[in-house]
Amino acid sequence: MAIERTFSIIKPDATARNLTGAVNAIIEKAGLRIVAQKRIRMSREQAETFYAVHKARPFFGELVDFMISAPVVVQVLEGEGAIAKYRDVMGATDPSKAADGTIRKQHAKSIGENSVHGSDAAETAAIEIAQFFSGNEIVG
Ligand code: GDP
Repeated sequence: MAIERTFSIIKPDATARNLTGAVNAIIEKAGLRIVAQKRIRMSREQAETFYAVHKARPFFGELVDFMISAPVVVQVLEGEGAIAKYRDVMGATDPSKAADGTIRKQHAKSIGENSVHGSDAAETAAIEIAQFFSGNEIVG
């Protein structure tokens, strides 16, 4: 399988509970490498752009308000099949449906405040990485 890069966010519910290290430990244990990482406060415009695909959904406003409510940690993860692998490591969107051992099963609070984001495909991974990182900030 090819080495891929995927985009990750440790969301406000997790940073607020001081879980950055706990989430990173699960990521690294799964064999993914954190090749870029920074803690930022997302602006409303950044959050709206990032989640533009969900603009028509009833929870869009709530989602944007949540993403700007506290700092987030944006990351680039690298590894074999990193995009699908990180989706597995994250677990289902709704933590009550997430498999044992996943980040969301262990740490998420609800379907909205679900601790992490991970890209769902190669195309979106490239777009999401480029929204938050320049090439020289990613060191593999
Ligand atoms: P993901 O790819 O597993 O993150 O899930 P989606 O792409 O379907 O949704 C994006 C994000 O929107 C989720 O991670 C949640 O933070 C949020 N979200 C999804 N469904 C709901 C919902 O029913 N209510 C609320 N408040 N937020 C939701």
